[in-house]
Formats: sequence, structure tokens, C-alpha cells
Amino acid sequence: MAKPEISVVIPVYNEQDNLEALFGRLMPVMDRTGKPYEVLFTNDGSRDRSGEILKDFHKRRPKEVRVIDFNGNFGQHMAIMAAFERVRGDVIVTLDADLQNPPEEIPKLLAAIDAGHDVVGGFRKHRQDTFFRTYASRIINAIRERITNIHMKDQGCMLRAYKRNIIDSIVEARESSMYIPALAYTFAASPAEVEVEHAARAAGESKYRLYDLIRLNFDLMTGFSVVPLQVFTVFGMVVSVFSLLFVVFLLVRRLIVGPEAEGVFTLFAILYFLVGIGIMGLGIIGEYVGRIYKEVRRRPRFIIRSIHEEINE
Ligand code: UDP
Ligand code: MG
Repeated sequence: MAKPEISVVIPVYNEQDNLEALFGRLMPVMDRTGKPYEVLFTNDGSRDRSGEILKDFHKRRPKEVRVIDFNGNFGQHMAIMAAFERVRGDVIVTLDADLQNPPEEIPKLLAAIDAGHDVVGGFRKHRQDTFFRTYASRIINAIRERITNIHMKDQGCMLRAYKRNIIDSIVEARESSMYIPALAYTFAASPAEVEVEHAARAAGESKYRLYDLIRLNFDLMTGFSVVPLQVFTVFGMVVSVFSLLFVVFLLVRRLIVGPEAEGVFTLFAILYFLVGIGIMGLGIIGEYVGRIYKEVRRRPRFIIRSIHEEINE
């Protein structure tokens, strides 16, 4: 058995109604590449029949399909990490299980890798998500573009391909919360982006609630940039300078005009605004402290219950 050249990595969480169609489309695409390949599915603690379906895939294509079964739900990026720690291919492709990323686009990514790029990201041509998701994501992309050194058109698209050394670096990083496309980008020598199709979710619903999306983006900001902290320091300095000028102004008025008590409510408004900003600042510091706390704890990032694979090396 030849060692696989391509490894396809797919995180799965409650996708029972999508898996059969995914399998039916992915395998022929991979067979047509003519290269030995493997597909690693991580069952991220699904509570539906996904786990059984994946094991069945392994039975049907034991040489190609490997299944990692998590002990609970550890999140999409950890599901991908567990597979990254085990992939054998020289090129690694990530893909969502819900058929939003058409498997038929994989050869496009492989072609860009063959052309010499080490990280190839897909950007979604006609994004098929809710209006809110699409626009919120555009704003987040714009902020990330400003405050980090990561430049990509579409950070949210998980249809991506990486060369082996990039994956090795990601595995070595061992961070407990990470955003894989961004981390890969920081290791890339020659990143590229290709346009890919995007479909609406074939079945089921998105696993990301609004709060999860906010958390994910905080991870991205605090994991790749200290600009939020710096902006805060600068803002504090600017406010202090203005406050000082205001104090001098009031002092002079007190001497010229005499005692006054007007404008109390204006002052309250300004005060509340600044208290709000202050609390937000604490929150931002808290995000970094929490991140440091998670890292120093060094708890296992995920727990694997069982692995179903046939590797004879
Ligand atoms: N996913 C996962 N663990 C989770 C959430 C999601 O493995 O906790 C998988 C999910 O099964 C899918 C991919 O990650 O294959 C993307 O999830 P989803 O389609 O819900 O995200 P969206 O496309 O809405 O961003
Ligand atoms: Mg999806």
C-alpha cells in the first residue's frame, strides 16, 4: 500500500443527513486525482447517528477512510487539529462536512499547491449564508485585516489546502484555542487564494450560534494581535489630555465667572460614557488574561475515545 499523498480532513458534528452525499461526491473526486489519498473524519461528539455512519464509511473504504472518535464536543478547530496530528499526506486539504464547500473544488486547490504555494485558501464566490452572517463576517474580515498581519479575503472559508511543513508547524504550536486558517497564514511562505463555489447547507443547521461566532472572533483577535490593548492605551492617553485641558478651563472659569452648577447632566453623560469604556477595557484585558490562563493550564485540548483506521507501515 502506497503512503497517501493527499490527506483530506473533515470535522463532523451532528451531520447525519449530509454524510452520505458528502461521501458519494468526495470519493470519486479523490479517486480521479489518481494519487493515493486518505480521508480523516473527526466525529466531534455528535449526538446523532454521524458516528455510526462514519464507522460504516471506514468499513466500506478501509484503506482510505480513517475515523477519529472524540469523547465529547471540543469544537471544529480541535477536531481538525486531532486529524492534523495524524495525517500522512504531503498535501492536506480541509473541508466542511455540510457540503457548503463543494468537494469538486478540491482539484483547484491542489493545482495551486502544485504551482508552488504552501497555503491555499478558498474564498467564497457567492456566499450562501444568512444575510446577517455574510455581512457580520465582512465587517470582521475588515477589522482583522487592519489589526493583524493576516491578509486573506475570506477567513471563514474552511476549504483550504496546506503543504506538509505548514501542518507540522501548526501541530507544534500546541495552542489550546486557535484559529487554524490564521495560524497557517502566519507560517506560510507563499500563500495563495482561489475562488471557490459555496452552497447553502445541504441539511441540518449551522453549529455556530451568534455567541460562538463572537467567541471565535475574540480568539482570532487576541490570538494574533495586541492592537486592542494598544488602542486602549492610546485612547486612555487622549482622554487624559482632554480631561486635563477641561480641568484648566473650569479652573479659569471658576476664577473669572465664579461658582456654577450648570451642565451637571452633560457631565454625567460624559462620565457614563467613560465608565463604559473603562469596563470594556477591563474586558479586553480579561480576554488576554483568560487566554494566558488557558494556555498555562495545559489541559488536554481534546480527548479521543477511539480511532478506526487501517495503517500498515
Ligand atoms: N463542527 C464541528 N464541531 C463543532 C461545530 C462544527 O466539528 O462544534 C463542524 C461541522 O460539522 C461542519 C463544520 O464544522 O463540518 C462547519 O460547521 P458549520 O457548518 O455549522 O459552520 P458554518 O458553516 O455555519 O460556519
Ligand atoms: Mg456550514
